Amino acid sequence: KSLVVAIDGPSGSGKSSVSREVARRLRAAYLDTGAMYRAVTLHCMRTGIDLTDSPAVEAATRSIDLVISISPDRESVLIAGTDVTSAIREPEVSSAVSAVATTMGARAELIRRQRALIAGAAHRIVAEGRDITTVVAPDAEVRVLLTASEEARLRRRGDQLGGTQTAAQLKRQVTERDAKDSTAADFTQAADGVVTLDSSELDFEQTVAALLTIVRS
Ligand code: C5P
Repeated sequence: KSLVVAIDGPSGSGKSSVSREVARRLRAAYLDTGAMYRAVTLHCMRTGIDLTDSPAVEAATRSIDLVISISPDRESVLIAGTDVTSAIREPEVSSAVSAVATTMGARAELIRRQRALIAGAAHRIVAEGRDITTVVAPDAEVRVLLTASEEARLRRRGDQLGGTQTAAQLKRQVTERDAKDSTAADFTQAADGVVTLDSSELDFEQTVAALLTIVRS
């Protein structure tokens, strides 16, 4: 029987690593939709497309040759055959990505591709992002909003970056991206039928376990 697990949440909620591990334990595929927004952003930056030019960004999104791995054990993103798996995580991409996220034509195209990837996944998939529970897969069997207090998110982001940034820099980055994102896809409130899981007081393993409990209930 097919199973779609949709997980939304803000950056720094630990969503990606937790969702990937949940997919592994469920022997499911895993889709990181944020990676697709990042890939389009990088593509525009590398090909000189003005990110404020919506029609150009939309056209680039429609034509991009983007291949993303949906294996939880193999993180891979290719643009026209070029490996951009780590390039899309660069801070320059993180600060520019909201331009793509707020271009409605680009969103429509990525949502279409995400739905196709979910439909094509053999039998089970965990899909993670900002609008999966509400727009991409509102009919998913399991829908979860993974939240965390700002304090917890700042702490995790700091750990992720290995202490290379000051507390003030981190806070500015996280709150800026939240503010930009809230105009693209409002993930702060769980839609009807979506279970909220607050991971502020949970470690990685406890969050994975709590998600698996929700999946199995
Ligand atoms: O999850 P991640 O931080 O990699 O996502 C990068 C950006 O992509 C987000 O900040 C957001 O602007 C955008 N995004 C989105 N909708 C999704 C996933 C990501 O708008 N479903």
